[in-house]
Amino acid sequence: MKIAVIGAGYVGLVSAAGLARLGHEVVCIETDRDRVDTINRGVSPLCEAGLEELLSACVSGDGNLRASAEYSEILDTDVSLICVGTPSNSDGSIDLSYIRDAATGIGGTLAAKPDYHVVVTRSTVIPGTTRDVIIPLLTGASGKTAGDDFGIAFNPEFLQEGTAVQAFFNPDRIIIGEFDRRSGDMVAEVYRDMAAPVVRTDITTAEMVKYTSNAFLATKISFINEIANICQRLGIDVYDVVDGIRFDYRIGDRFLNAGIGFGGSCLPKDLRALTYASSVKLGYSAPLLKAVLDVNEAQALKIIEVAEQKLGDLDGKKVAVLGLAFKPDTDDIREAPSIRVVEVLLEKGALVKAYDPRAMENAKAVLPAGVEYSSSAAAAITDSDCVLIVTEWDEFRDASLYKGKTVIDGRRALDPRRAGSVCDYRGVCW
Ligand code: NAD
Repeated sequence: MKIAVIGAGYVGLVSAAGLARLGHEVVCIETDRDRVDTINRGVSPLCEAGLEELLSACVSGDGNLRASAEYSEILDTDVSLICVGTPSNSDGSIDLSYIRDAATGIGGTLAAKPDYHVVVTRSTVIPGTTRDVIIPLLTGASGKTAGDDFGIAFNPEFLQEGTAVQAFFNPDRIIIGEFDRRSGDMVAEVYRDMAAPVVRTDITTAEMVKYTSNAFLATKISFINEIANICQRLGIDVYDVVDGIRFDYRIGDRFLNAGIGFGGSCLPKDLRALTYASSVKLGYSAPLLKAVLDVNEAQALKIIEVAEQKLGDLDGKKVAVLGLAFKPDTDDIREAPSIRVVEVLLEKGALVKAYDPRAMENAKAVLPAGVEYSSSAAAAITDSDCVLIVTEWDEFRDASLYKGKTVIDGRRALDPRRAGSVCDYRGVCW
């Protein structure tokens, strides 16, 4: 098939490269011209395992993937996949401006396209957005009718950054929210070579499936952090407790790593968007989901409380912050706990030396001035009064790095029993 992917970020570029690898002819439509040029050189603008190899194979090798800034490229395709960002507004509601621009751009092109085309949204959008925003913009800009002249679908993405390429080729399910059978059949055709179960449903339900997944995952994390905070007061190690619950198939063992909470480009903003839509638009206050956010916000700052218990007043203290990315194996620092941790450390007068193997350039654009960036973990740790492990990169798991230091582990990067013999070790909630 010929596929246009609108927006070449984590979701768009991984989808585009993966679909090209599966044999489709793919064009990425991207407003950032530097990104367009980078992709057309077969180079990945994102730090994502396996993506560069895939891009160079598809762009330079097979030649069935390229990027462009022109929406007119859609004229020669069968399907458009909308993969633009859906960030938060300042009140927590979803910012649909990129979605509006994409839908208007696609609609304008469809006006001049005589044959059938399916517009599929992969961005995460609040239930009702396809019906109330995307379809009206497409029909308005194209002068055409949904269902007759063009098809519509919603096909959420569930990738995790760091393992996105692997997840693309091994999805655990494919959700197709379809306007009508014909639209859904076209989406099913896009994924025809995938072995995953396919769930076909209506569009609004599919939109809610995505939010429900993310709300559930975020709830698991805040749940185990709350249990950890109770366990800590009882002198119990929450990781031993998880060992005792994880064999229950109804519970499982994923997303039960107690620590300083979740960040990233999805869970926080999706939870905010869902609670905002529920409480402001639908009249239901969603107390559980609000509590998930509240627990998460407080959890990041526990690492500073523990540092103060150890060092007293942080004014003038040298603090090494290891890890700035919101999780290992990515350079993404969107809503990373490190941002709030560093801000509060600086407010308290601490002298912060930070190190991250991949995310330092992105962090420099976001973190306040006054942070000193180190060239290695060892360089950040030398002459520090205290080390905070904020992201569990593999290289931080080497306990010999911390000889004689005070270490506060926010991610269970170290085994507390072994680390205790080389450093003054404290877990954030164990
Ligand atoms: P991103 O910010 O990394 O990428 C978005 C890209 O779209 C950018 O390159 C931007 O320049 C481009 N863009 C913006 N407006 C455009 C337009 N009108 N036309 C063409 N290009 C445009 O975003 P992302 O992380 O890939 O997320 C995209 C969507 O997928 C969001 O709704 C997000 O919630 C959802 N999602 C993200 C992940 C994830 O892990 N990142 C996982 C699942 C779902």
